[in-house]
Amino acid sequence: MIIGVPKEIKTREYRVAMTPAGVRALTEDGHTVLVEREAGIGSGLSDEQYRQAGARLVDAPDSVYAEAELVVKVKEPLPAEYDLLHANQQLFTFLHLAAAPDLTVSLLNNRVTAIAYETIQLADGSLPLLQPMSEVAGRMAVQIGAHFLQKECGGKGVLLAGAPGVRPGRVVVLGAGTGGSNAVRIAVGMGADVTVFDIEPTRLAALDDHYGNHIHTLMSNTQNIEEEVSRADLVVGAVLIPGARAPHLVSEEMVKRMEPGSVIVDLAVDQGGCIETVRPTTHDDPIHERFGILHYGVANMPGAVSRTSTFALTNSTLVYIRKIANQGLQSAMSEDPSLAKGLNTHQGRLHNRAVAEALELPF
Ligand code: NAD
Repeated sequence: MIIGVPKEIKTREYRVAMTPAGVRALTEDGHTVLVEREAGIGSGLSDEQYRQAGARLVDAPDSVYAEAELVVKVKEPLPAEYDLLHANQQLFTFLHLAAAPDLTVSLLNNRVTAIAYETIQLADGSLPLLQPMSEVAGRMAVQIGAHFLQKECGGKGVLLAGAPGVRPGRVVVLGAGTGGSNAVRIAVGMGADVTVFDIEPTRLAALDDHYGNHIHTLMSNTQNIEEEVSRADLVVGAVLIPGARAPHLVSEEMVKRMEPGSVIVDLAVDQGGCIETVRPTTHDDPIHERFGILHYGVANMPGAVSRTSTFALTNSTLVYIRKIANQGLQSAMSEDPSLAKGLNTHQGRLHNRAVAEALELPF
């Protein structure tokens, strides 16, 4: 099979959909991999590394799209890429079609077979290609919070580790799933005083088992959250109710009662945020201040650590790319129901019910 890896063109997207190790695995499997020149540059991966791994370097995106039977990307195609995709070509990437009517219509009209990373789902309901990005974002949340707590960054001047004879900083993590438990891990590593909330006792029990007395676990309810948030130096929001808007666990009133210079990092901003006062921000201008509290609401946090994120994402996507390339898509989907859930468009028809309902298109 011919697999194409174009350079991402979305503003400030520095990730790439395949590493040289992925190219090597696929060429060893007997496939041809076309990589657009400088596709890996934003992740510190040179053309020479791809060439040595067996890739054929291609000068322009048009040639990648023209020849490839399977195109692998990170972000959804942008309008400039819509008509480069052609009938019966396979596309494997983050798509988020429910929020992208124009892209959906273009994929249907061009009869592209599009498989979305974010709808691949295992039998236990987990989303294996979203998980690595939540792991990265959860770990970043505490690092970012620690940075903005510094005085010169606008924070209250608290070191999360404290110092001998001085109390450590207080970190409150809302949600003990993938992002939340990774935030806990880093906060504990920094020596902070950590409290984590969830509504699932099993999630809290797992963290309690792992960290023992190094953390506090609390049932998520308004009473507990109100008490802990008012004393927190850093609040990390990491709750998710799949398919729904995030619940506002921290109200405007609770934020007003926090000490000025405290920091909020809300991962759930992509689902509307679990802190009432948070709003989406960008890497260029990441903080907005309300009531003296620094709010960080970047919805694509992993993009800032593009090299780590490229490796984390492609570790998980390569398994599926090899299945598609080695077995053919239909046979790979029959054998692996999680991959079948990734199918969004095929031969001019929508194959994802949630996308069809969101866009009011036939399913
Ligand atoms: P997850 O499903 O692994 O964990 C969510 C947790 O929230 C679960 O443990 C669930 O029980 C808990 N929860 C649900 N309702 C709750 C409540 N009322 N109180 C306390 N806990 C509650 O989800 P995840 O992968 O950790 O993702 C969390 C959020 O982070 C999602 O919105 C995701 O899209 C987002 N995210 C953002 C970025 C970014 O760059 N901002 C990157 C990756 C993920």
